[in-house]
Parts: sequence; structure tokens; C-alpha cells
Amino acid sequence: MPNFHIFAHLKNNMSEEKSLNFIEEIIESDISTGKYDGRVLTRFPPEPNGYLHIGHAKSICLNFGLALKYNGATNLRFDDTNPLTEDTEYVESIKNDVKWLGFTWQNELYTSDYFEQLYQFAISLIKQNLAYVDDSTADEIAQHKGTPTIPGRETPYRNRSVSENLTLFEAMRNGQYADGEKVLRAKIDLQNPNMHLRDPLIYRIKHATHHRTGNTWCIYPMYDFAHGQSDAIEKITHSVCTLEFTTHRPLYDFFIQKLNLFPSQQYEFARLNMSYTVMSKRKLMQLVNDGLVNNWDDPRMPTISGLRRRGFTPASIRNFCERIGIAKRENVIDFSLLEFFIREDLNKTAWRRMAVLDPLKMIITNFPEGKTELLESENNPEVEGGDGGRALPFTRELWIERDDFMEEPPKKFFRLGPDLMCRLKSAYIVRCDGSAKDANGVVTEIYCTYFPESKSGSDTSGLKAKGTMHWISAHHAQTAEIRLYDRLFTAEQPDTSDQDFKTFINPQSLVVIKNAYIEPDLANAAAQLVEHPDRRYQFIRKGYFCLDKDASPQHLIFNRTVTLKDGWTG
Ligand code: ATP
Ligand code: MG
Repeated sequence: MPNFHIFAHLKNNMSEEKSLNFIEEIIESDISTGKYDGRVLTRFPPEPNGYLHIGHAKSICLNFGLALKYNGATNLRFDDTNPLTEDTEYVESIKNDVKWLGFTWQNELYTSDYFEQLYQFAISLIKQNLAYVDDSTADEIAQHKGTPTIPGRETPYRNRSVSENLTLFEAMRNGQYADGEKVLRAKIDLQNPNMHLRDPLIYRIKHATHHRTGNTWCIYPMYDFAHGQSDAIEKITHSVCTLEFTTHRPLYDFFIQKLNLFPSQQYEFARLNMSYTVMSKRKLMQLVNDGLVNNWDDPRMPTISGLRRRGFTPASIRNFCERIGIAKRENVIDFSLLEFFIREDLNKTAWRRMAVLDPLKMIITNFPEGKTELLESENNPEVEGGDGGRALPFTRELWIERDDFMEEPPKKFFRLGPDLMCRLKSAYIVRCDGSAKDANGVVTEIYCTYFPESKSGSDTSGLKAKGTMHWISAHHAQTAEIRLYDRLFTAEQPDTSDQDFKTFINPQSLVVIKNAYIEPDLANAAAQLVEHPDRRYQFIRKGYFCLDKDASPQHLIFNRTVTLKDGWTG
């Protein structure tokens, strides 16, 4: 349990005053010295090449959270410099996810809006003899670059004149060369121990249609030549990214300095890694394309849309991100911590209802046939605003959960078995008198006696029952499909092994129950969802559930968001 102590520690510190994280410390110091005139402008810069995941949620909560805390603002900037992988479908999903998480951006911007300006920046570098057109192939460039221990060497093109470079770069822009025929490189330092400074590529040729600029461009800036300059163009004050960009920071600073731009600054924090899942758009895309999940919003996915469909609330994700905080060292956060926050949230809001997932018939032999008694449900005091009282029909034939009956129960089994007594939730105490089996020895129904004086709320029976079970009147039960989810992978860190991460898919990650029974009150769930899209349910003893987006009044489908307790053993 590598992370259990983190979990326990977080739980214990819930009420304590939080100290500043290292980025807040920097910002407070910048504000106090009047740097950037005390202004705070952050940005969230996704590449629109997939759907956002919980790791992005961490970055969103951090960037928007900082702006909110310091009276600043946040730009949403689509880092769309690779026409081959990007699409407006992703742009729309990203906007939707950020809004759903509860954040509002100041400006919606696109790196592609800066293509002309970035092109001019490149010309400025060429004129300073800080960039050159290189005709070498990708392989040749890689060979000349050396390794961290072997210094790089010049290619034959490094010393082209400024005017030749200007001419060639313009010809690149005008489409005179094929993909890969030439690149523009910054002329920095081929011996630098930091490989990113060994004359990095800053422009490449790509004859492809861009989702926004169409065919206007056939050369595209590389990340390192686009990101910092885009920050500077927008006058971003604190540009926060993940640790793998630490070695890119000298480049970020180099271009801003040489081009004499607004002095945005980059800070790095540890990316979020979570156990039993993968967290990279590229890998999530493989799961979708290979049909291993149903789509980006499959409730097993760690995507924001998947978590939303599974029933996670924006508050639970924000609280999770807040509590894990930010660090300078990578670690792996246990998925159960996220589950802790959704339970905490849903405990206060979910309507308590009954559903039987694996039904067994119970016959109450001393209850008249054909009679329906309407029982009052208790209004659950834990639920803010109550959970809508409803009448529970009680009849002679009920559905109960198959595993609430055992023919040969062990000592401390507090539900039903021969001669055992148990309370039916909001109803009566019953005693089990016998059961019937089919030819295969499978129990088909059980027979019970109920005690009319033991009615919940006015129990004068003097009987004691240690357990309470859920139940549904068979005559009134509605059917529904119920989808139970488990971790997507069987390995704690599926993508750190030599094996393909996809071989660790958990075959039990989705279990579909086609014919579960739900109490009649839930028949309205689909209709209610129109007015109350955030309605969540606790199916007593079974977990928290939400209606799936594919459900209809004729075919109710519930997703289990999370079980009631942390069932983890690992
Ligand atoms: P992926 O590898 O999943 O595609 P990415 O870093 O390429 O991730 P971007 O769209 O470029 O994805 O990221 C947008 C922002 O989200 C970046 O600032 C990035 O650092 C941040 N981010 C991405 N993944 C994580 C993560 N796991 N934890 C925290 N921040 C993340
Ligand atoms: Mg990326």
C-alpha cells in the first residue's frame, strides 16, 4: 500500500489551515515586489488532440485556482501547432470539460492565431544569426546531435548566411519543399549538456490541413518556439507546466530574451499519476481506437467526460485536486483517494433508494395475498434538503438480494438463514422459516414470517434483529440495467512495465446487470433528470449511482459511481 499513508495523512489534515504551495509563494513574492504590477494572469494550454483527463483537471484547478485566489484571470489557449492530430471535436470537448469543472476563462485563444507573428519572430532570429535552415534528414540531425555524453557536431548547413536563410525560410513558407526536406533550427549550442539547447528544431514543413487555418500554412512552429512566445504575447505572468518541461525552460527564456518579449516565466510542478490507470491522451486514444473501452467518455476512463458519466461531481474532482496539492516530485496517487472525495460529496446529496441487483424471491407467508400496505420511508437526515419521501409498497412477495440468504450461515451472519431474523429496511422484522430449490440445488425462493408489531418507527415487538436488508415488492418492482465498474487495469502502473499496457486491462472492469430490480419510485428517474440533472442515488448497501446518459424512461440504466466503502485490499 505505497500511498496509503498519504491517504490517511490527507484525511487527518482535512480541517487544518493550509500553508502556501511553492507557486503561491512565488506569486505572493512577485505581488509584494510589484513585478508585473501585481497582476496575475495564468493560462491552461491544452493541445486539442484528445479529451482531457484527471491530470488535466489538476492543471486546470491549479491555473484557474491561482487566478481566483489572487484576483487575476486565466486564458484558455489551444496549443494547436500540429495539424495532423488536432480537431475541433476536441476543442469543443475541452471547453465543455473546463466549464463543467466550474471555471470561466478570460479569453479563448489559439496558438494558431499567432502563426504570422511567430513567423516574424523566426525571421527576427534569422536576422540575428540565431537560426538557420537545415537540409539534413531527421536521422542526420539526430546523429549530429550527439548524446548527453558525446558533444554534437555541426551539419553542413549551420553556417549559411543570413540572407540565404531568409530566402530559404520564405521558400519553405511558400510551399516549395516537401515535408521533411528542410527545417528551421535555432542556432544555440551544440555542446550544451542540455540536449534541448543543441540547435533545436523550431519550424518543420507539414503539408496538412489545419482545423483552423486550413491550408494557409505548410510550416508549423514546434512546441518550444510557440509556447513561451504565446505566453509572452498574452502577457501571461506565471506559466505553470509539468516537470518534464524543466529542461525546456532555458529555451523558453532564450527566445523571450532574444526576441525582447514580455518576460513571462515558467514554473514546473509534478504531474498527477494515478494507480490502475494510464494518463496520456495518446494511450487513452489507443484504448478507444482498439475498442477496449466504448469511447472517451466510457465511465472506466480517467477522462473528465468519463468521470462525469460515471457520476463524479465537479466538486469531488476539485476537492481531490485541492487536497493532493502540488509537489516538485512525481508520485502516484491512489485511485481510492478520488473515491473518498466522491463519497464525501454524494453522502450529502444522494437520495436513498432501494435496488436489488441479484434477486431472490421472498414470500411472507402470513401476509395476505393481494394486499398492498404503503409504508412511509424515512427521510434521510444526512441528505441536505431531504431525499424526497415516498411511499414503499409492501406485499406478500418481495425481491431480496440473493446473498442476503444463506442455507448454512456462519456464526455472525446477521441476515437470513433457517430461523434467523432480520429487519427489512423501513418495514418489519422477518424470520426465515424455509426455502425451496430447483433440480440443480439452486434456491428459488425463501419463506418468512413477518411480525406486524415490529414496524419501523413504532416497533413494540421486543424482537431484536441485528441486520437490516433492502427489499422491493415484487409486484411493484421496475427493471433496470445496472453497470458496475472496477479499475480499468489489473496492474498498479500498467504503463511502466515492458509489456504493452493494454494487456493489463481488467476483464471485470465492467459488469452489466441486465435485469436488476428498482423500487417503483425510481421509475421516474429519467423524467426527473430533466429537471434535476445532478440527481444522484444511493442504492442502500450497494453504492452510489447515477443515471447513464443513454438511459430512457423505457430503458433505465444506472452507473455505479462508487461503492459505499473502500473495498480495496491492496
Ligand atoms: P498528454 O500526454 O496526456 O497528452 P499533455 O501534457 O501532452 O498530456 P496537453 O494538452 O499538452 O497534454 O496539456 C495541457 C496542460 O495540462 C499542460 O500544461 C500539461 O502540463 C498539463 N497536464 C497534462 N497532463 C497532466 C498531468 N498528468 N498532471 C498535471 N498536469 C498535466
Ligand atoms: Mg501534448
